[in-house]
Amino acid sequence: MLTVRDLTKTYANGVRALDGIDLDIPRGMFGLLGPNGAGKSSLMRTLATLQEADGGSAVLETDGRRIDVLRDKDAVRRLLGYLPQDFGVYPKVSALDLLDHFAVLKGLSERKQRRETVEGLLHQVNLWNVRKQKLGGFSGGMRQRFGIAQALLGDPRLVIVDEPTAGLDPEERNRFLNLLAEIGENVAVILSTHIVEDVTDLCPRMAIVNKGRVLLSGEPNAAIAALAGQVWRRQVAKAELASYETRFTVLSTRLVGGQPVIHVFSADAPEPGFERVDPGLEDVYFQNLRQQARAAA
Ligand code: ADP
Repeated sequence: MLTVRDLTKTYANGVRALDGIDLDIPRGMFGLLGPNGAGKSSLMRTLATLQEADGGSAVLETDGRRIDVLRDKDAVRRLLGYLPQDFGVYPKVSALDLLDHFAVLKGLSERKQRRETVEGLLHQVNLWNVRKQKLGGFSGGMRQRFGIAQALLGDPRLVIVDEPTAGLDPEERNRFLNLLAEIGENVAVILSTHIVEDVTDLCPRMAIVNKGRVLLSGEPNAAIAALAGQVWRRQVAKAELASYETRFTVLSTRLVGGQPVIHVFSADAPEPGFERVDPGLEDVYFQNLRQQARAAA
């Protein structure tokens, strides 16, 4: 279990990237959902001990130990697997050789044990058949799966993956997310993403963040249930869209057959012509972002 309290960070340019983050992250997949610039990477890098926070605390409890993430960095690094947003690979090296190299860096010095670990991981991420190919020829999805293999070296208790599905095609994305879900059966996996579906399908717990703050955290299903009865749908003319946006809390606009269909947040029918819909996590997400924007206005 990872407990984050009142974590703050302001960069030298004055941007307050973390504005008092509180989170409880248990074992399993935890989705950290927020738009670009929300502060997700800043949070991930801080938890991965790659940058300093200004204040607050983060404590990792695992196997009967209690580790201060912000101070006891070496202990965290031994228990951490991290896949950064911009994970670069050496294009001319094979998957097998590079993973073996990372394993040496991770301290797996005993040759036989290292080989077993490396081979086991290549099987686990489904790259065994291409282990001798150079990483430069890998697809985005294969590269990300390689990234997960290196993150799993050393049997981590906490795995952090930062926007791993950006740029993957739907099939690669599914494959990658299923792999994460398997890993999440044993350890805490924090998946940061701006893609709502990444969270809906996989994460038993989640948080929505924006402007360095946690807007909501808990179970996706509970958050969706809390919106029941308050989301309304209507097809509108393109020319009327702006007027709807000023009169109602429009959560989303989607083109269906070239015509805008809007979702509106409202306790009662906004006006004749709207029909109630079962909310989804996307409605929850936009409702939280709209509410924050309104509170700031
Ligand atoms: P996300 O990962 O959700 O896109 P980030 O944590 O990357 O968000 O960024 C949060 C905010 O902090 C953004 O406004 C971003 O421009 C700013 N930011 C991120 N890194 C730095 C940095 N090293 N120096 C200054 N500002 C930064």
